[in-house]
Amino acid sequence: MQYSELGYWLKKSAQWVDGYYQKLAHRPIRPSQAPGEFAALLPASPPQKAEPVSDIMADFERLVPNAMTHWQHPRFFAYFPANAAPASILAESLVNAMGAQAMLWQTSPAATEMEQVMVDWLRQALGLRQGFTGTIHDTATTVTLCAILTMRERALQFKGLTEGMSGAPKLRIYASDQTHSSVDKGVRLAGIGQHNLVKIGVDLSLSMDPMGLRQQIEDDLADGFLPAGVVLCVGGTSIGASDRVADIIAVAKEYGLYTHVDAAWAGSAMICPEFRQHWQGVDGADSIVFNPHKWLGAQFDCSVQFLADPTSQINTLGLRPSYLQTLDAEEVTNFNEWTVPLGRRFRALKLWFVMRAEGLDGLQAMIRNHVSWCHELANKFDQDADYKLVTNCPFALFSFQYCPANEDSNEATKTLLNAINEDGRTYFTQTMVNGQFVIRVSVGPIACTRDDVMSVYDICKQLQH
Ligand SMILES: *Cc1c(COP(=O)(O)O)cnc(C)c1O
Repeated sequence: MQYSELGYWLKKSAQWVDGYYQKLAHRPIRPSQAPGEFAALLPASPPQKAEPVSDIMADFERLVPNAMTHWQHPRFFAYFPANAAPASILAESLVNAMGAQAMLWQTSPAATEMEQVMVDWLRQALGLRQGFTGTIHDTATTVTLCAILTMRERALQFKGLTEGMSGAPKLRIYASDQTHSSVDKGVRLAGIGQHNLVKIGVDLSLSMDPMGLRQQIEDDLADGFLPAGVVLCVGGTSIGASDRVADIIAVAKEYGLYTHVDAAWAGSAMICPEFRQHWQGVDGADSIVFNPHKWLGAQFDCSVQFLADPTSQINTLGLRPSYLQTLDAEEVTNFNEWTVPLGRRFRALKLWFVMRAEGLDGLQAMIRNHVSWCHELANKFDQDADYKLVTNCPFALFSFQYCPANEDSNEATKTLLNAINEDGRTYFTQTMVNGQFVIRVSVGPIACTRDDVMSVYDICKQLQH
C-alpha cells in the first residue's frame, strides 16, 4: 500500500464508521461467538505476497465487528464506560495519521505543550486549586504504580532506586478495602509486597475509618515498619465507595505520608460543582488520578494525574541519558520523566477537541443526565417487590438483586444476569456485596437516552422467570 492511496481508504473507512454508528443501537452488544471461534477464522500464517487493501477492508467488515463487544452502544451499562466522543474519534484519527512519538518536548513540541495546557484546563474544570500540575498517562493502573513508587522512594530517601529493596526497612501502604486491584498490583510491582498493603476497614458511609488508619499506623511504627503512603478512593469500582478525603489526608499528613487519590471513574463527575462535596479536601492530596477515558469521552487511553509537586515523582522515575538530552535546552519538560514508559502518545489532542466540541456545559449536562436517570432507574427496582436495591452511590452506579419468593437470590440473580446478557439489548456485569451476588448497573454511554436507561427495567421484567 502507498501513502498516495491513504486518502482514498480513509474516505472509505469514514463511510464505514458512519454506517457503524448509524446502526450501532440495533446490534447485539456482545458477540455470540465462543472463545477461539474468531481466531479460527484467520489464516494461521502471515501472507508471503502483498494483498490488495480492498480485500483487507472487506475482511475487516465481514469478520471483526461481529466479534466485538460494542462499548459505544447506548445501552452498555457494564463495568464503567469507555466513552469515545465523536470529537475524540476525530482527534485520534489525526494523531494516528501523524504517527508522532511524544517522549520528549523536542520530539513533539505541540504534544507536550498542549498536554500542559489541557491538564490545567481539566484542573480548572474539576475545581482543583491552583498549583497542581500534571501529566497524561495510559491508564490509572500506571498512575497508581507511579504514585506508589514515589511513596516508596520518598520513604527510603531515594535509596531504593540504587540499592534495591533487599536491605530496606519494611514499608507500609494503606488503603481501604474498597480500592481497586491496581493498588494491589502497584505494591506488588514496587517490591513492597502484598502483605505490606494494609487494607483498613470502611465505616457505614463506606469510607476508610480515619481512627482505624491512625491506629494501624501507630501499631506499624511500634512494630518497626516504615509507613510510606495512603491511597484514597473516590467512587470505588465495585459499588462506588468514597473515602472522607479531608479526614484521611489529615491523618496521613500528621505522619508525613504521601497521599494519592484514585478517582479514576468518579473524577469526571467533578466537572459539576454539586459533586465536589464527595471529594472535599482533595486539594490537600499529593497526587490525584482520573480517567477522561471512562466517563468524559476522551477515548482510551487517557488517564490524567494531577501532582501538587512533581519533583518526587520525577526524581523517582526520570532518567536523562545523553541520547535523550535536548541540546542547549535542558530546562524543557520531558514528560517521559514523569512516568514508566519512554515512548508516549499524543493524548492531549482528543481532550482539546472534546472540551471544545462539547464545552463544559455539554459535558456537565451529560453527567447530570446520567446520574439522574440512574437514580430514577434504581428507584424503579427499589419499589418492585421482586427486586432489592443493594447499593446506590451518589454518582451513576447502583446494584440490585432479583429475589423471587422461595428461591436463593444469589442463584436467581445470576440466572437473570446471564439471560439479560445473552439477550443482547443491554449489558451488565456483577459484583459481590457482603456475600450477595448483585447485578451492577453503571450508566455512562455518551449516546444513551433516558429511554435507553429506563428500558433496562422492562428488559429485566421480560426476562425474569
Ligand atoms: C477503572 C478503575 C481503575 C483502573 O483503570 P485503568 O485506567 O484501566 O487502569 C482504577 N481505579 C478505579 C477506581 C477504577 O474505576
